[in-house]
Amino acid sequence: MIDYPFEAVPAPGEAMQVATGIHWLRMPLPFKPDHINLWLLQDDDEDGPGWTIVDTGYAVDQTRTLWEQLLAGPMANGRVKRIIVTHFHPDHVGCARWLSEKTGAMVWMTTGEYLSAHAAHADVGGFDRANTGRLFMRHGLGKVLSAPPAPTSDPRAAAPTGERRDPPVPACYRRLMDGEQLSIGAHRWRVITAFGHAPEHATLACEDAAVLIAGDQILPTITPNISVWGNQPESNPLGQYLGSLSRFEPLAENTLVLPSHGRVFLGLHERLAALRTHHEDKLEALLAELGEPRCAADILPVLFKRPLGEFERILAMGEAIAHLHWLMYAGSASRQTGEDGLITFQALRPR
Ligand SMILES: [Zn+2]
Repeated sequence: MIDYPFEAVPAPGEAMQVATGIHWLRMPLPFKPDHINLWLLQDDDEDGPGWTIVDTGYAVDQTRTLWEQLLAGPMANGRVKRIIVTHFHPDHVGCARWLSEKTGAMVWMTTGEYLSAHAAHADVGGFDRANTGRLFMRHGLGKVLSAPPAPTSDPRAAAPTGERRDPPVPACYRRLMDGEQLSIGAHRWRVITAFGHAPEHATLACEDAAVLIAGDQILPTITPNISVWGNQPESNPLGQYLGSLSRFEPLAENTLVLPSHGRVFLGLHERLAALRTHHEDKLEALLAELGEPRCAADILPVLFKRPLGEFERILAMGEAIAHLHWLMYAGSASRQTGEDGLITFQALRPR
């Protein structure tokens, strides 16, 4: 059973202790899910009292105002010693540069995430929206849009905020490596990298306190977005995601999981099993639909039971392709490209 040991969630601008020296912060997001959890680790050493920040919130004034409150309030007794960012998505990396400039603290990230953050901001390395838009069109996106998008259509142009999502990031960083041990205050933390949701997502496990900072990799009630994007059109992110879940199996049964969205929870192993089952069920349902060749746009209703808005349909395309690629790489489905360029998949009979 998933158990939520804390009734309350921290109020905006307040820190709530969830284990010795480990504090939970919440920041609003201008889109769903409507909040992100950030973490504040007490980082006292011979140089004096301090803090390590884990993840930074979306780059909007509301977040910066809350950080000002925290820095002047609960954090005023120590300086910020480092800023760890789990992955490059804008709700996590958003205020990293601003916080780094304000506090003088270095940003710590894996190389995959640091370079992806730069590429996403600069629209290079295939991170530009038009690149993914073209991929989704080849998988049938045009069938599920009310009007055909312009050739340079930006699949995220309809983002509710209407502003640029990917923020500028610092020009230097401290590299986080898988398996690296970090001493933060009284605790030791081990970096565990994970894949599928982001290129080299860092999670942090503290075995002495039985705490896991899970980022977006393990969420309590929703599954993270696992998508094929335009710059890696042949990727198998669902295979990478399910494969990296096993990296968390050795952690203790009583591990307190600190996810980026939702509430702090106990029941890591149950949640790992449920995440696997969720995707296995979707894959099985999908395979049953592939008696005839179908494109990714055709199978959106199999993966998503609720009606999807136009913007959600665009985002769902990447997830649909990810599930189809998993079946293809598992040898359960074949892929064909039609004369019109449309990519379809069909179930292969078991041999
Ligand atoms: Zn994310």
